[in-house]
Amino acid sequence: MNKLLLITLTTSLLLANPQTSVILMIGDGMGPAYTSSYRYYKDDNRSAGLKSTVFDTMLVGMNTTYSQNSVITDSAAAATALATGYKTENGYIGLRDKNHADAQTLLEYAKEQGYITAMAVTSTLTHATPAAFISRGHHRNREAEIAKDFFAKNKKGELKFDFLIGGGDKYFTEGYTNFNQTAKEEHVTLYRKGYDFKNIKNYPFIAFTAYDYPAFAIDEKEEDRYRVSKMTKKSLALVNDKPFFLMIEGSQIDWCGHINDMACAMTEMEDFTRSVSLARSYVDAHPNTLLLVTADHSTGGLAIGKKIKKDNKSVSKETRSKSYIWYKDVIEKIKASSIAIAQKIRESKEINSTFQHYTAITLSNEEYHSLKNTLDQKQKKTRQVVNDIINRHSNTGWTTHGHTAVDVETFAYGKGSEKFRGLLDNTQIAEKVFEVLGRNR
Ligand SMILES: [Zn+2]
Repeated sequence: MNKLLLITLTTSLLLANPQTSVILMIGDGMGPAYTSSYRYYKDDNRSAGLKSTVFDTMLVGMNTTYSQNSVITDSAAAATALATGYKTENGYIGLRDKNHADAQTLLEYAKEQGYITAMAVTSTLTHATPAAFISRGHHRNREAEIAKDFFAKNKKGELKFDFLIGGGDKYFTEGYTNFNQTAKEEHVTLYRKGYDFKNIKNYPFIAFTAYDYPAFAIDEKEEDRYRVSKMTKKSLALVNDKPFFLMIEGSQIDWCGHINDMACAMTEMEDFTRSVSLARSYVDAHPNTLLLVTADHSTGGLAIGKKIKKDNKSVSKETRSKSYIWYKDVIEKIKASSIAIAQKIRESKEINSTFQHYTAITLSNEEYHSLKNTLDQKQKKTRQVVNDIINRHSNTGWTTHGHTAVDVETFAYGKGSEKFRGLLDNTQIAEKVFEVLGRNR
């Protein structure tokens, strides 16, 4: 066969069946109550009708999240299911089942198929969700051990990742004898400039956004508040039309849920939503891309709204006539996370004015004393009382400081999005993404 003909044939084959890129976005803890609260939180209340969110334009179904040993999953087991298509036990990264010990993750499979592979997260890179895409066989708490798996090569002798953005420099430094040297030997450039990515032009690299755990969006400086969006933008600019697998996690929605802090959760949702919009626009310009967005589980048992007692004279007649209400304007005025507010109260000892400054809420006598008690007797955490007060004023409800078993939403857009319709299990989500990446079962 002549060379030109061969080239023409190969090119047309490639054009006929180009590899589909995948953007997998995980809102950690982002159960259905979070996406609905966010919709009401963002609505201006003034215009008629309700403004929809980017999530509303992409909803295709729900998925079940239970783990191998509990109806209620933790992030490690859920991420393992989403990354490999197999369930594992809570707390565990990868599979205990020896039959599937060599099960590949989506990221590993994609790399083997010649995709660019990358992850960008607002947790540490060694935290449960990103860890489950590249590491295996560890308890989630052993982050330094997990870090060592990041430089393990695949069968082709390649690094599994092209670039990583997230916190947790610390765990790499602890995990390796001389981490800077290891990175150098592997030709991986290390960046340690927070969310300033402008000098990053090539990969492989790791960009550490924080030495340990990154801060909450609500406590960040204004210019760094939308950091998932910054990471998403940079990642999509770097892949530059080549086939890629990119996992992006809004990691801290879950952490706000664990402490039952609604303003914290809504600020994380704002950042994550902006990132989903960016990714969606990328798909519009690059139709050969699948955008899949889901959660690993729901956190906190979040509920919005409460019944108003008919004899409650502290609210207007008009408000009483509504029977049920959620005061989102209370949440909108909160300026810091409950952790930061508690810290400020402890430092200043000026309970009333400090609380008023960060929340716009004037404390009742009873509320003042409950906060003061936490400072004097330390029986209950100050942060928890701060949240109790805000939740009571806004009618926001929580059932737990842990996770719950409710199904989570599946949002899909672009190439192959029709595969994700209806009720699936989280393991089926992974299987279908494998298919999109080209694996035949
Ligand atoms: Zn989680």
